[in-house]
Amino acid sequence: MPVSVDDRCLRLTGEGGDAGVLLGMRCSGCGVVVFGPATFCQSCTAPDLAEVELGAAGVLYSYTIVRVPPAGWPGAVPYVLGEVELPEGPHVLAEVIDCEHGDLTIGMPVSLALQAVAMDGGAETERVVYKWRPA
Ligand SMILES: [Zn+2]
Repeated sequence: MPVSVDDRCLRLTGEGGDAGVLLGMRCSGCGVVVFGPATFCQSCTAPDLAEVELGAAGVLYSYTIVRVPPAGWPGAVPYVLGEVELPEGPHVLAEVIDCEHGDLTIGMPVSLALQAVAMDGGAETERVVYKWRPA
């Protein structure tokens, strides 16, 4: 059974680990939506937040090529770290896959891509992570 890398950010919706939705929190006071868990609104500080499912499509807001990865990074290097803007408002940082670096353009449409990654080499450490790929 596949396991989400963080079930506060990514809810798996299928048995295969290749379907899921990103999760955010919407402020009941001002309507601002943020990605992932929050205990109060970052915009108006209201404590009244409700979980929302976010869409699987966004646009590339910014990106960088990472040549020195964080400790324990399980993937190939260099890789593209993309900041993706969702229609609901939040920006979500994740690797952009299946794209030549030269083909990246700001504003390009991207869609959510889920991948199972062995965090520590062994199959028992496998977690489903979220990435972006050109739409
Ligand atoms: Zn608010």
